[in-house]
Amino acid sequence: MSASPIRSSVDYTASGKQHGHLYIPYSHNLGGWANLMVPITVVGRGSGPTALVMAGNHGDEYPGQVAILRLLRELQPEQVNGRIILIPALNVPASKAATRLSPLDGKNFNRTFPGNPAGTVCEMLAHYLTTVLFPLADLVIDMHTGGRSTDFLPCAHMHLVPQGPQRQKMLAGTEAWNSEFCFLYADIAGTGLLPVEAENQGKVVITTELGGSENVTTDVHRLTQSGLRNVLVQFGVLEGKFVPRPKPPRWVQALNWEDYRFAPESGIYENMVPLGENVTAGQPVGAVHFLENPQREPALVVAASDGVLVATRAPSIVGQGDCVACIAHDVDPRKLP
Ligand SMILES: [Zn+2]
Repeated sequence: MSASPIRSSVDYTASGKQHGHLYIPYSHNLGGWANLMVPITVVGRGSGPTALVMAGNHGDEYPGQVAILRLLRELQPEQVNGRIILIPALNVPASKAATRLSPLDGKNFNRTFPGNPAGTVCEMLAHYLTTVLFPLADLVIDMHTGGRSTDFLPCAHMHLVPQGPQRQKMLAGTEAWNSEFCFLYADIAGTGLLPVEAENQGKVVITTELGGSENVTTDVHRLTQSGLRNVLVQFGVLEGKFVPRPKPPRWVQALNWEDYRFAPESGIYENMVPLGENVTAGQPVGAVHFLENPQREPALVVAASDGVLVATRAPSIVGQGDCVACIAHDVDPRKLP
């Protein structure tokens, strides 16, 4: 791939703490030679692993952005063994606009990997991560929530990468977040994901779904911030006291397309099962009501198999084909091939 057009104002090899920006060329009608500026902080000291910590991949997912904004102010070089690179909001325009997709190019940033140096702003940044920042990193953290569209049972999650040291480190890191649930997920909605590119480069990749909908509870903020620090401490890049789990996590997986349930028609969605509750095959988990046809029975969304509801629709207005529920199944990930 050709060189990136993105310039960084921080020196990744320098010791100490630097705040700067990634400058992404972005020409618009009132800015002929303008750049989109993405904040980046680097804290380095001595030799040790590199952690790349990111949030705001989807703009409307804020707990991770808040956790990084706190951490980048609090972190001092003497607390770091190696290097921590922090990007609080990968998709700054989407974060400002409270949208999942970039308002500049309409892209879902998490579908643009490995990126394109001659592409749109999202594609250029994806290419920069792929070719510059991932190669520097040992640990890659990409914090998500369900955004405005989905409410998630707060959890750290991961892909089931091939058996080996990478998978073992990812399992340990996911558990170090200390969420009650840990989740193995599948990509049911396309390709080009950030974590997949980092996994393919052999990195230890830890991701999250820390709640969702527009309301972020205090508990979710606390879990996001404490989990992030604990993973960094466990990895050896941040000084501090490792907090062991109070009890083992409930590991669940949703690897089949049928585990993700979609609205059969448009209407008003009623959640019929609380997050975290067990369900049985055939049980209705939601109902779509029809304002233009009030006497009609609602269209039911049913669980395809026994499991636990880990994600549900957040807004009540639903469109045909929207994902409205995810049903996961208990699993022992250390017994999987
Ligand atoms: Zn997301």
